[in-house]
This record gives sequence, structure tokens and C-alpha cells, in this order.
Amino acid sequence: MTKVTMSLIENKLKAIEPEVHEIIDKALDGRPISVKDGLKLMHVQDEELDCLLKTADLLRQRKVGEIVTYVFNRNINFTNQCTIRCKFCAYSEDPSSNKGVFLSIPEIQRKAKEAWELGATEVCIQGGIAPQTNLDFYIQIIKAIKSLVPRIHVHGFSPMEIYTGAQRSGLSIKTALQLLKKEGLDSIPGTAAEILVDRVRNLICPEKISVKSWIEVISTAHQLKIPTTATMLYGHVETAEERIQHLKIIRDIQDRTAGFTEFIPLAFINLNNALELQANVHGDIKNPTDHLKLIAISRLFLHNVKNIQVSWVKLGPQLAQKGLQVGANDFGGTLMEENISRSAGAIYGESLEVSQIRALIQEINRIPIQRSTTYDYLQPIPAQNSS
Ligand code: SF4
Repeated sequence: MTKVTMSLIENKLKAIEPEVHEIIDKALDGRPISVKDGLKLMHVQDEELDCLLKTADLLRQRKVGEIVTYVFNRNINFTNQCTIRCKFCAYSEDPSSNKGVFLSIPEIQRKAKEAWELGATEVCIQGGIAPQTNLDFYIQIIKAIKSLVPRIHVHGFSPMEIYTGAQRSGLSIKTALQLLKKEGLDSIPGTAAEILVDRVRNLICPEKISVKSWIEVISTAHQLKIPTTATMLYGHVETAEERIQHLKIIRDIQDRTAGFTEFIPLAFINLNNALELQANVHGDIKNPTDHLKLIAISRLFLHNVKNIQVSWVKLGPQLAQKGLQVGANDFGGTLMEENISRSAGAIYGESLEVSQIRALIQEINRIPIQRSTTYDYLQPIPAQNSS
């Protein structure tokens, strides 16, 4: 595998369209590229596309070197009962149906303890918006986990859960977050973002929190020094321009707060959901290269977000491995049990062993390093050759 160098990019730049050349120059200089630039990159092909992918790889090298991180974690989806019924969601069940699952607090505790004993450092706790969930319930979960496994990192509760939990408990977002933090919430998944454009949300998840409320929850968390991830669910009814608008919102928040640990593009899996039969549901994301292009654009556009994660659950381990060669530097988690994408028809399993993740990373001559949720390296870093 040839390592991308500046001279290789310079050669490629000679043969591409001047407008794309200029955008790549900006990105290489560490300057923010504009929304118009991002949109231009969404449509590049051939030589221009090749140059974009290689530039993203070079920017990744400059930011983090050859290390690829992963986290040993377990997903605990405590309930699939949900009244929100987003059209893309294949996981949720109507609370009045008899198909719903609702884990008891001791069962959640047991799963967290088992994960810790197997070596996990994080539990990722999320669930549907069931009628009985409120802030007190989320606090009970956190307390129960921390009482049994005090050192495990609790990464939990989407902005949708926090917003609804606060509302149901009659609290402001800030007070709700302060209480969650006080009881041991360590970080928040930046899910429920989907595409941060209200036109798209009205089509795919009209009852979900608005763009404004998502930004409020995330920005308040960052102000309170609760880190979050940032995600984007793409490849359904959104346009290329709306994807870039989403990235711009993430970049602007990061400029203000520096609270995002990473950005995770999540490919939409179009099975078992209410959007499945809609025409044009994949928009312009049609083949593996389109996913790679989006990862590369994320690296260029989000110049202020250090870590770009590939989702092996959504892309599959092989395409995720390719994503690591076009700008991404994090392989995500072991997950141990992943219910949401599996319900949607994802075929890549519920879990990857640490050894499988490490092998995929080593296969492309990169260095696998286990990390904490907040990107502290949990093992020694071998010396890297800077040539
Ligand atoms: S995505 Fe979340 S909020 Fe929407 S229906 Fe599914 S579980 Fe409920």
C-alpha cells in the first residue's frame, strides 16, 4: 500500500480542474472550505475524486499519524418501545404492541458488569422514547451501573432522550444535563442528528427534536464539559447540499465549543422501515465510492474535528477498512451487541472481536490502538516512521 505524500498530491493537482485544485489547496493549508466548495466536492469524479480521496488520507496522516483507534465497548439498548416512530427506524416498536422489550435495571447492571469483566471500558446506553422514560429513569440507570462498575465510562442518552427526559421531568436542558453529569454520565452520543435540516426531518422523523433543539442539547452539554460525538445519517431523502449544511452546523458548533470527540457518518440501511418503498430513497449515494467520497469530504470540511470514525456496522468491515484509507482514523467499537442496525437489515453482525478489528487495521499497515471513549490511548504507542 503506497503511503500518500505531498509530492504525490502535487502531481495529481496538476491534472485536475482549477476550481477543485483551489479547494484542495485551501484544505491542505488548514483553511476552512466553504459550503460551495463542499458541494463542488460532492460532485467530483475521476481524477478530481482520486485527488480528493488522497488529500483526505494525507490530512488524516498529518492529524493523527498511522494510528487507528478503536474502543472496547458494549451497546445496551434498554428498550425498543418508542412513541416517536421515525420513518427510517426499523428498531422501534409501538409501546402498545406485545413486541417491545424493556430491560430491567438489574439486567442493565448485569450487562454493564459483564462488559467490564470482559475488558470493555465503555457502555453505550440508548433506548426508544417509551412512555415511562424520563430523567429520573435515566438517572436510575446511571446510578445502578456506577454503583456496580464505578470505573466504566457511561456514554449515554441521545439528545432526543435528554430533551424528552428533561421535558417530562419539568426541567431545563441545562439542569437535566447537570443532574446526569453529577450522577455519573461521562459523555453523550451525538445521535438523533440524522440530517440537521428541518425539511429532511419533517420527511423522515417529524416528531423528533428540531435542529434548534438538537443544537441546544449538544451545545449545553459542551458548555458543561460533557463531550459528545457527532453523527450524520445519510443516503435517504437528503440532497448533497443538505449533507454539507449538516457538516457546517457540526463545524460551527465545534468552533464555539470544541466539545465533539469525533464525527461518525452513518449510512442509511434501507430495509424493514417505512422509507423502504419510497422512490429515490438512496438519493445520490449509490455505490461504495460514494460512501468513501463522503468520508473524505468530512475530513476536509471538518478541519476542526480531529477524529473521523467509520461505522463497520453500516458499511461492513471491508468498506470500513477502505474508509480508513480516505480520511478516517477510528474504527469505532466492538459493540458486543448491536440491535439497531441489525433490525434495519444490516448484515455485518452484532459484534466484532478486538482481534478482528486489529487485524483489519494491520492489513492496511496501520497501527491499532485501543482508546478510551475520549481518545486517550490505553496502550503504548509504537514509534512511528514520519517519512
Ligand atoms: S430512531 Fe429512536 S426516536 Fe426514532 S423511532 Fe427509532 S428509537 Fe424512536
